[in-house]
Amino acid sequence: MPQDTAYDLVIVGGGPGGLSAGIYAMRAALKTVLIEVGVPGGQMINSESVENYPGFINVHGAELAQKFTEHAKSYGLEMITGEVVAIEPSREYHMVRLDNSEVYATHAIIIGTGGNPKKLNIPGENEYYGRGVSYCAVCDGFFFRNKTVVVVGGGDTAAEESLYLAKLAKQVYLVHRRDALRAGMLLQERIKEDCKIEILWNTVVTEIKADSAGVRAVDLKDTQTGKVRELPTEGVFIFIGFEPNNKLVPAGTRMNMDGYVVTDAKCETNIPGIYAIGDLREKYARQIVVAAADGCTAALAAAHYVEAKKTGNIVCELPEELLKTGS
Ligand code: NAP
Repeated sequence: MPQDTAYDLVIVGGGPGGLSAGIYAMRAALKTVLIEVGVPGGQMINSESVENYPGFINVHGAELAQKFTEHAKSYGLEMITGEVVAIEPSREYHMVRLDNSEVYATHAIIIGTGGNPKKLNIPGENEYYGRGVSYCAVCDGFFFRNKTVVVVGGGDTAAEESLYLAKLAKQVYLVHRRDALRAGMLLQERIKEDCKIEILWNTVVTEIKADSAGVRAVDLKDTQTGKVRELPTEGVFIFIGFEPNNKLVPAGTRMNMDGYVVTDAKCETNIPGIYAIGDLREKYARQIVVAAADGCTAALAAAHYVEAKKTGNIVCELPEELLKTGS
């Protein structure tokens, strides 16, 4: 692969993390391309209103995404719309393959493919997303001040988010499909002590109903008796787990049991020159500001790595698992 056709950095994914990485990479004079399959902006393009990104008291998610994109393009970042189908680590250049058979050779790769909240797949869930159905209490809880909300799930996230929502809402119904929460004991105690939270045990939401003003009720089914009843509510928050989009993460990359990529403080994976950022990376908070910070960290670390690699100060040592197949 001739030096001049190879990239210093390929960024896979154009969410807040990828776009932030693009800004920092261009400022560090890296030859960079960002590849995104859809519209740049990631999950934020679906947010009606973002109120927790510093510097913006209230901004439409799509507008914030546009600002990130314009900022990255202002440095001349090359952006390609395309679907990456494989990321292949190698000693000389890592390879990024697209579905149209194009292949990008690069010293470093930042993977920011994000993830998605798991869905209930019930009627009304997709239709009323953003109009009463939410997967993020920190993002949308404020719109439900003094209102009644339903939270679905029984894990740590559902418990934590119920406690968060109880500070704002009039009433929180925590709907759980079993008779015991999966959440840790400390959270369970707090839930039980909070007089605004009522747990509906052995119950599942079977339908979300709305009118022109937004969500107005859910249908609840008792899993033991099969009885269905309607519960009036203005919001439905669903926390039944989150799935990282880790399909493109190369074999041999260290991941935790839930499929999140484990990195060091530089966002670097155990494969030299390959970084994971944003919701794909194991971390405490999944927020736009954190993804953007990851993008910055990974791009600065990649700049250092690429320079050291070009000057021969480091060699790309691949893990054992990859040496069996990699070059
Ligand atoms: P989780 O632990 O997988 O819990 C998901 C919950 O949703 C479970 O209670 C599950 O019920 C329920 N559920 C799953 N599918 C469902 C469906 N189709 N219909 C109804 N209910 C459904 O997910 P999580 O709460 O997002 O936590 C993910 C990981 O992050 C966990 O390891 C958790 O400990 C960690 N976490 C930690 C903290 C913290 O330490 N502060 C905070 C948040 C998350 P069942 O119980 O019946 O399976």
